[in-house]
Amino acid sequence: RRLLAIESSCDETSAAVVAEDQSVLSNVVASQFELHQEFGGVVPEIASRAHVRRILPVIEQALQQADCALADIAAVAVTSEPGLVGSLLVGLTAAKTLAMSLNVPLVAVNHIDAHIYACGMGQKSSAFPCIGFVVSGGHTNLYECHSATDCRLVAGTTDDAAGEAFDKVARVLNLPYPGGPSIQKAAEQGDPTAYKLPRPMMRADKLNFSFSGLKTAVLYAARGVPGPDQLSETPPECVADLAASFQQAVVDVLVFKCKIALRKSGHRRLCVGGGVAANRLFREQIAEMCRRQSVELLIAPPELCTDNAAMAAIAWEYLDQGRTANLDVDVLPGLVRPKRK
Ligand code: ATP
Ligand code: MG
Ligand code: FE
Repeated sequence: RRLLAIESSCDETSAAVVAEDQSVLSNVVASQFELHQEFGGVVPEIASRAHVRRILPVIEQALQQADCALADIAAVAVTSEPGLVGSLLVGLTAAKTLAMSLNVPLVAVNHIDAHIYACGMGQKSSAFPCIGFVVSGGHTNLYECHSATDCRLVAGTTDDAAGEAFDKVARVLNLPYPGGPSIQKAAEQGDPTAYKLPRPMMRADKLNFSFSGLKTAVLYAARGVPGPDQLSETPPECVADLAASFQQAVVDVLVFKCKIALRKSGHRRLCVGGGVAANRLFREQIAEMCRRQSVELLIAPPELCTDNAAMAAIAWEYLDQGRTANLDVDVLPGLVRPKRK
């Protein structure tokens, strides 16, 4: 049995074919970086128009690469929440149309659960139970995950998400969008100790995150203006040093909070997903922390960290539970899904 998965929650149009044993037969991702480049961030209207143009070719390509005919598809999975409303609607409409015309079940997938699920794909042992960490463009959320479909929110960000901070700081430093990869690249030439930047909320009694103060500190440093926590005569051309110092500050906070969440909950396994989990420094330092704490780390390969349709293979779990969607299912763009204890 084959699953056709569709993802269009933000600015990547993606389709994948995934077998029941989770093997990824194809995973086509059409990114829109170049369309949003000049704006330094995703412009929702441009994103949905691009999805409309790309969705059918991307689906066709995914089927072709998987050597899979439409008749071989057992179910259609699609991200229905959370994300940009216009973007989500394009994928959902395509998925509904295919499910209806093929007369197969439709599965509406939560994108955040899918980011965590991606960690376990292709692994021999189960990823659950675990502490799940989604560190992405819209979220910096810690979960206690009992199973793939039962993740309970423990903490989140009080302002910017980590990926959002990367994107905004890149703008301050005149580095291209998306900020994560370009800051990582610039940081390679920089000294992470060159600037003394704050590590917001780095206290053992708080699991929540906050990145807007750090972002402002970078802004002050870049402009050579004295900030509240520092006096700097920083030459604004020191982009590499600032990028490296910022990246280190974010990674310090992310790794620290995971350590506290593991300690507080007693979980011995950590699953990390989302675009920022593609960051090289983060991957090194989270692995180091887990090794020291004797915690099992599952982190998706970089191409499964950033948005892609293959991770919507969590739909196999929904199908096992009989959780198919009706054709009148709607998108839920809202950032936070209420989770009850
Ligand atoms: P969400 O998943 O919260 O709905 P999203 O889908 O837009 O948001 P992702 O695609 O998971 O987010 O991740 C995109 C984010 O990841 C962007 O903010 C981008 O800058 C960041 N990112 C990508 N690669 C890296 C990297 N190497 N280092 C740091 N950040 C990165
Ligand atoms: Mg994206
Ligand atoms: Fe995402």
